[in-house]
Amino acid sequence: MPEQALITQYFNRHNPISPNTSADATQVLLGIGDDAALITIPEHYELAISIDTLVTGVHFPPETAPEDIAYKALAVSLSDMAAMGARPETALLSLTIPTADKKWLKAFSDSLFELINIYRMRLIGGDTSRGPLLSITTVVNGLIPQGQAMRRSGARVGDALYVTGQLGDAGLGLQSGADPACRLRLNRPTPRVAFGIAIRDIASAAIDISDGLATDLEKLCAASGVGAQVNIDDVPRNKASIEMALTAGDDFELCFSVPPANDNKLETALIDLDCSYQKIGNITDKKTVHFLKKDGSSLKLKYKGYEHF
Ligand code: ADP
Ligand code: MG
Repeated sequence: MPEQALITQYFNRHNPISPNTSADATQVLLGIGDDAALITIPEHYELAISIDTLVTGVHFPPETAPEDIAYKALAVSLSDMAAMGARPETALLSLTIPTADKKWLKAFSDSLFELINIYRMRLIGGDTSRGPLLSITTVVNGLIPQGQAMRRSGARVGDALYVTGQLGDAGLGLQSGADPACRLRLNRPTPRVAFGIAIRDIASAAIDISDGLATDLEKLCAASGVGAQVNIDDVPRNKASIEMALTAGDDFELCFSVPPANDNKLETALIDLDCSYQKIGNITDKKTVHFLKKDGSSLKLKYKGYEHF
């Protein structure tokens, strides 16, 4: 199948919902088909840009269905937008595939556009290449009102620490014979986009949990020059062990800090959102992350989360 035909057939699709043309949205002046896309950034907004790569055998098991691979590839980039408090607007897709299998491409692109359409986004470009291993790279562009992005560096001593959802389910989903609900959490993580937008002027810092709470919280603390205390009995989880809830990656929930003055604003801001959240501890001046048991002793983790190298 010629490359241009492949792009036209599977990826140059239009959003069936009319594009968002309001003055505070990105306008796509030029989409797929030229050497580069052209978009506008509305006045008083900043552009949030993020890129993620998923490689077969590293980020998902080789037997994963094309529908799930496409969904996850975009969802992980959307999760980065959520962690910044950005509204996703446009995406680019770089696809490396060993063969151009029509059934695979149809399932992959249908699922991708399902998620693109949910967020009323536009796919504005990409690249398609043959290669020995299946690899998917997605770029997402989002908009944030000037100065409102949630950075990792904003946490201060005394802030309360929260997480969304339940941790460790995706980790369980990776085990053989996993519960289908956990498998679904692994293959189709829910990016907390609306949640991120709702808390962006309340939270002091945020990060999405991609490698495990323990290691991702360490990153937030390091960026902010602070430490954290986590009361492990407060960490929301279903069937995962506490170690798994703290260290398994791929949940794509949000971890965020809230200054004392804003704590009472959370409930009202999140009232219409179908997403649970839980206070798990506090930001401290200790420079390390401390996992506290009920009896006052601390839980030491040998393994803190996923590392590539
Ligand atoms: P170039 O030679 O400049 O890389 P290509 O022939 O690869 O251009 O791509 C043609 C057009 O199709 C470009 O606008 C590019 O952004 C888009 N495109 C290529 N592959 C994809 C893809 N997998 N998904 C979306 N758009 C794509
Ligand atoms: Mg190209």
